[in-house]
Amino acid sequence: MSIANIGYVRKTLGELRAKKRFGQNFLIDANIVDRIASNACRKDLKTIEIGPGLGALTEMLLKYSKDVDAYEIDKDMYRLLNEGIRDERLHVYLQDFLDADLSKYSEEVNICGNLPYYVTTPILFRIFESDLDFRKITVMVQKEVSDRLHASAGSEDYSALSIEVQYLFDVKVEMNVSKEVFYPKPQVDSAVISFTPVRERDREFEKSFFALVKSCFRMRRKTLYNNLKDLYDTDLLQKMFTELSMDQSIRAQQLSLEEYLRIHKFLEREER
Ligand code: SAM
Repeated sequence: MSIANIGYVRKTLGELRAKKRFGQNFLIDANIVDRIASNACRKDLKTIEIGPGLGALTEMLLKYSKDVDAYEIDKDMYRLLNEGIRDERLHVYLQDFLDADLSKYSEEVNICGNLPYYVTTPILFRIFESDLDFRKITVMVQKEVSDRLHASAGSEDYSALSIEVQYLFDVKVEMNVSKEVFYPKPQVDSAVISFTPVRERDREFEKSFFALVKSCFRMRRKTLYNNLKDLYDTDLLQKMFTELSMDQSIRAQQLSLEEYLRIHKFLEREER
């Protein structure tokens, strides 16, 4: 019997209750878990797991990876996981993932987790901003978060965050997941989303590019021109709109990643 099973989860928790403060919703559908793990891992690579809980995903990550390092914040889960899975290829750390020393990994890794919803964005940014050499990140998040990260120009969910993430990664919604496959059942549906690096990192460029994108989105209801006019000379902005053939009434959420890159290039060149 697999761990992703309502019988196993209920029996193993016993008197314990799932802890809301740690965002505990356990997966109880073995097929879904197998699909996530087989897609997230590679047999010759280590997988780092965030929030293993009772081990529903861990068990399958072990099946498809070289070995697994799992970070769990809750000491009850740490104990139950170590009792439930005995495999020398599994190393469980009783630690908040936000405090984990990621610099110790010099090899290429995969990253996977059914993320605690209260700390999804900080966890993702911890990984994005680290020097980890990862092949792919595959995580279960609330559907609303995956909509925001995956949003394209023109949609309600499109934000500076979508652009930053899509500049760095190929962002793919792997599957939508019903709330029925968790115990306890959460309020909202979830999605599995993956991030695959698409370019060499250039921290200096990222810093100035992301700062520009954030400025463009400063006031969502204002036009791009109005958001930028306190930061740049108005003649320069007029020249930019003409040269890039952009309508001056355009708003930040209407521009694609490529258009942001062109704006950035123009301003870098003219400001030199
Ligand atoms: N992976 C299990 C599953 O799918 O059934 C449990 C997923 S549950 C949504 C999230 C897990 O992350 C819980 O086990 C919780 O205790 C753990 N967790 C919460 N915050 C954490 C943090 N900051 N660092 C590491 N683990 C954390």
